[in-house]
Amino acid sequence: MSRPAIAHIRLDAFRHNYRVAKQCYGGKALAVIKANAYGHGAVHCAKSIRNEADGFAVACLEEALQLREAGITEPILLLEGFFEAVELAEIVANDLWVVIHAQWQVKILLEAKLKHALQIWLKMDSGMHRAGLSPNEYTQTYTRLKAHKNVKNIVLMTHFANADNLASTHTMQQVKVFQDTIQDLNNVANIDTSLANSAAILAWPQTKRMTHIERHWSRPGIMLYGANPIIQAVTDDLLQPVMQLNSRIISISKIKKGDSIGYGSIFTAERDTTVGVVACGYADGYPRSAITGTPVAVDGNMTRLIGRVSMDMLSVDLTDLPATGIGSQVELWGNHVCANVVAASAGTIAYELFCNVKRAHFQYYDAANI
Ligand SMILES: *Cc1c(COP(=O)(O)O)cnc(C)c1O
Repeated sequence: MSRPAIAHIRLDAFRHNYRVAKQCYGGKALAVIKANAYGHGAVHCAKSIRNEADGFAVACLEEALQLREAGITEPILLLEGFFEAVELAEIVANDLWVVIHAQWQVKILLEAKLKHALQIWLKMDSGMHRAGLSPNEYTQTYTRLKAHKNVKNIVLMTHFANADNLASTHTMQQVKVFQDTIQDLNNVANIDTSLANSAAILAWPQTKRMTHIERHWSRPGIMLYGANPIIQAVTDDLLQPVMQLNSRIISISKIKKGDSIGYGSIFTAERDTTVGVVACGYADGYPRSAITGTPVAVDGNMTRLIGRVSMDMLSVDLTDLPATGIGSQVELWGNHVCANVVAASAGTIAYELFCNVKRAHFQYYDAANI
């Protein structure tokens, strides 16, 4: 028998969530499948929406080539563009789109000898202060690039720092900086733009272009995997979880009130306790920082993590679940246990939980392709 830690991936849920993203915001949507589709498997996810996706976004050339090699022919955007001039030949040969976020990239692009002109996404730093050209160099750079033979077409792009915070005024300030900067561009109404990530798609409809929404490209990521990024929106009917991380009970023991368990003996039983050991640990991607009390479902019943998560195992409280036994099904997150809740009890976000899943076997499902 093989180790029972399994990540079940529901591609029909992924497809559903992509449709929700498009319906919510309107316009076109690039499915963000960087970092191996946030740990879900980029090729499987891409194939599941290949007939309807407007395009895909990944972090770098290697991730894009993996998709091209798997036969994905839709547009693919490199969210960090290129890192060195030598990548440009392959970028052109594979018909990839690139984000230009820094002046050193502009310089390389203008000096390169390319077989074909490139489609680029010119990123503005409208207030996140991570990557992007500053507003005062943006239009000038746009005009220079636009006139150059290496550039086919330019999408105007920016990224939000606080769209998951409904109380923050930062998102609309960023929109204003973006709009004020681009407003004098020639024929701006007919230039494609891209602002919204998942949080903006779900919570900030006012960030969208009221006219020419068909010229807007949203960039949904985390929502495609079924995790709602909006603070407090822990459960929702809109999105469907895509990953269910499961394993099984491999050992059961009884400890007395006052006994402690696991490394560091950080959990001491307040009553006589039945302890179940689950074959899943931080080497599978379950966060070691998850605290006692983090929800876990055993045979569909809610219980809690107790003690410290170790590399290959973790312990759960089975005292109130007498029907469970060796081999009982455990869900670490998925349909019963919200990944956002596990993430919060581990001091992180669902993005990181998903990206960290490894060693567990991956199994893919797709209900009839409607
Ligand atoms: C990762 C990423 C996204 C997707 O963000 P989510 O919060 O996962 O929706 C969108 N745009 C850019 C530039 C990104 O890097």
